Amino acid sequence: MQRRDILKGGLAIGTLALLPKGRAQGAPQNAPSLGRRYRNLIVFVYDGFSWEDYAIAQAYARRRQGRVLALEKLLAHYPNGLINTSSLTSYVTESSAAGNAFSCGVKTVNGGLAVHADGTPLKPFFAAAKEVGKAVGLVTTTTVTHATPASFVISNRDRNAEERIAEQYLEFGAEVYLGGGDRFFNPEKRKDRKDLYGAFAQAGYGVVRTLEDLARSNASKLLGVFSDSHVAYEVDRRFQGVKVPSLKEMVLAALPRLASYRQGFVLQVEAGRIDHANHLNDPAATLWDVLAADEALEALTAFVDKNPDTLLILVSDHATGTGALYGTGQSYLESSVGLDLLEGQKASFEHMLRTLGNNPDAGQVKEAFRAMKGVVLDDAEAQMVVEAIVKRVYRPDGVRYGIQPSNTLSWAMVQKDPRKPDRPNIGWNSGQHTASPVTLLLYGHGLRFLNLGLVENTHVFRLMGEALGIRYQNPVMSEEEALEILKSRPVGMQHPEDIWA
Ligand SMILES: [Zn+2]
Repeated sequence: MQRRDILKGGLAIGTLALLPKGRAQGAPQNAPSLGRRYRNLIVFVYDGFSWEDYAIAQAYARRRQGRVLALEKLLAHYPNGLINTSSLTSYVTESSAAGNAFSCGVKTVNGGLAVHADGTPLKPFFAAAKEVGKAVGLVTTTTVTHATPASFVISNRDRNAEERIAEQYLEFGAEVYLGGGDRFFNPEKRKDRKDLYGAFAQAGYGVVRTLEDLARSNASKLLGVFSDSHVAYEVDRRFQGVKVPSLKEMVLAALPRLASYRQGFVLQVEAGRIDHANHLNDPAATLWDVLAADEALEALTAFVDKNPDTLLILVSDHATGTGALYGTGQSYLESSVGLDLLEGQKASFEHMLRTLGNNPDAGQVKEAFRAMKGVVLDDAEAQMVVEAIVKRVYRPDGVRYGIQPSNTLSWAMVQKDPRKPDRPNIGWNSGQHTASPVTLLLYGHGLRFLNLGLVENTHVFRLMGEALGIRYQNPVMSEEEALEILKSRPVGMQHPEDIWA
């Protein structure tokens, strides 16, 4: 084939992306039903969590910790299935379109919160729950104003408008907000200098910004913001002494407050940084955030056990990465080497990059990998990392990530010779979201079926509605309509260098 022809082929494929993917003939319409009502609802979103992440965490817990994941026990004994994650116009979703599918029950284009491409606002499920008297809580390890939690309560055309979203949270008036994002509340950091902390305090919230304050507070309405941007990765909280609450500690602060409201509550918990760690192809950060989610899950199931009128829905919004443990050694007998070597990884790439700064030399890179990742790089590998950092492929502030070559830091330290394993054997296929189906699981009393099967992500909305007896329908937009609108005004594509989390 001539180069010209290859180019033509490429263009044809690019054009196809603008055509509707259409309804496949004979696609199953699976709509499993709960068969009962609940008073309280907890939705636990594992953001960017793939079955590969599950497999590594399951194996690590068994081999290195001698225990079984709470998630593994639930998968073995309670209703679970898979969700298709596509957004309205892409087989690959990002978190806001996925959040909209859960929260609003309809597919949307990528990039906006509870909104269609033409600006038609949708009613998020927690807003409907609030109308019938439920207390509302949002708990996350990302900025509290980030796409997934935000899509459950407010509508905004731009998921990145987090200063505005912080104001919308005040107007919405949930009982509990816990996560990161000081830069969107603090008058010294906000562009408009508004003091959102002061405004929340005036509206009756206890405002806490440290782990100690969180433990001391007895406020019934709570705003807790524990870091400038996202809350530190679990691996850094645990091994680098970063002082922030764990996801479990935030969950344990939220539950008794929400449970004190007489008409019940809805709570969204998000393990939000599994996604970020996968974007950065960071095996230790991914693993430990999955393990931290598992501890939070244990706390949530203990609550459900004591409060049988509570339904827990656990769901991933999409896979990211995806970093898989690959077979190593003769007959794959040494595949566990990667799990053993994970034990020596004591910091995230994010933390390591902050330590290294913008202009490290190869010696500093080698030392950082040795101390924080337990791997001795050779000169060429260290130089590759130096170049990636100097060319600002990564930004230490963690705002942008995944720009190619997204996997330089990870690739530098992975197994190069599978016959002689002495390096971590976890490899990623990209730094982006993928199209694969992901986990859906229910935990609660009186669930009469064992298999949810494969459902669309929008079915989470129907399960939530059935659980609380809240039924309404948001306006549906067709894929053809959305593509027409996108052609004239590409929503969310103003910053092509931004990679969605
Ligand atoms: Zn996501």
